[in-house]
Amino acid sequence: MESEFSNAFPESCAMKGGEGPHSYARNSTFQRSAIEAAKKLLQSAVIDNFDLKTTCGSSGNQIRIADFGCSTGPNTFIAAQNIIEAVQLKYQSQSQNQSTPEFFVFFNDQASNDFNTLFQKLPPNRNYFAAGVPGSFYGRLFPSQSLHLVHSSSSLSWLSKMPKELTDRNCGAWNKGRIFYTNAPKEVEDAYEGQFKMDLATFLQARAQELVGNGIMILMIPAAHDVIDFSVDLYGGKDYEVLGSCLMDMAKLGLISEEKVDTFNVPTYFPRLKDLKKMLESNEDLSVEKMDLLDGNNLIIEPNLGRHVSQCRAAFEVLIEKHFGDGIVDELFDRFAQKLMKSPQLTMYPQKLKLVMLFVVLKRKV
Ligand code: SAH
Repeated sequence: MESEFSNAFPESCAMKGGEGPHSYARNSTFQRSAIEAAKKLLQSAVIDNFDLKTTCGSSGNQIRIADFGCSTGPNTFIAAQNIIEAVQLKYQSQSQNQSTPEFFVFFNDQASNDFNTLFQKLPPNRNYFAAGVPGSFYGRLFPSQSLHLVHSSSSLSWLSKMPKELTDRNCGAWNKGRIFYTNAPKEVEDAYEGQFKMDLATFLQARAQELVGNGIMILMIPAAHDVIDFSVDLYGGKDYEVLGSCLMDMAKLGLISEEKVDTFNVPTYFPRLKDLKKMLESNEDLSVEKMDLLDGNNLIIEPNLGRHVSQCRAAFEVLIEKHFGDGIVDELFDRFAQKLMKSPQLTMYPQKLKLVMLFVVLKRKV
């Protein structure tokens, strides 16, 4: 049996570490813009829902916060600061005689995440204690009832593993010649969706156990507009379609094997908004306090082609190298850039991307 503490999901891969030109730290403008766009919503969420007396009563003056899927920074530090400022604001307005709380922030990501870069870049003037917590968030990572506030942004679209059907040639969901579910048979999307549902339920269940009663969870999850036709709509998934076609071109030239392409699938899923809302509402231990969409005008899709390509590379380079071996990513992303240059309409017009970011606040029932 899997130990409760083991990292049960070796298939997932972390973002590109360090601070080089292709690193996540330097190529995550979109994710950062979501955290910045959510600042006001987050402040209201804490003020309206975080009850200091009932939440922190048993732990004296200590507030324990965790960011799940933190990557290497700096976005996670901005999120931590926004949360702490919001709690302080609430605190100042409520408690006259108490001393200010101490904050303990736990930064979680896969064990393969570049925690060294994260630790080295911790803001020197921070007003919180910090610790790294390695391991998959699709399982328990903290003791029961030990967290007061949970945060996760742009991370829950990553699946814990790929459904087996996608690589089974005897199955309708066999995703031959593609690496994503857009413009694929319906069975392919169904397989992705099924995995996403299971993963989200596992995440919510684990966090419900780790949160104290009345503790809150603030999640930002990318989702697809409800009415979306993958064969005509521009969408975040177009990047993966184009990337998949570049891999197929390389296979046809004999640079990689076609079988390798057939067995590779990008492990991210963007649920349809209405389905996502239903899934969030279905956990019995958590109540949904608020749901909102981040203002799309504040989400920055990188308009510069070179930077757009780097952003994709930062997210997928490690995964691709793990599957195809060293030495293909330079050529692959050169080809990707050339294809996008010829048809920039495929991914470069953010106003046409039917991708939204759901902001949701959940509370641990007592
Ligand atoms: N929250 C950050 C990073 C988002 S990128 C930001 O907003 O910028 C998604 C992150 O989730 C990556 O660092 C990836 O390694 C992490 N991740 C994906 N699956 C995970 C899992 N199962 N457990 C922990 N972290 C995971």
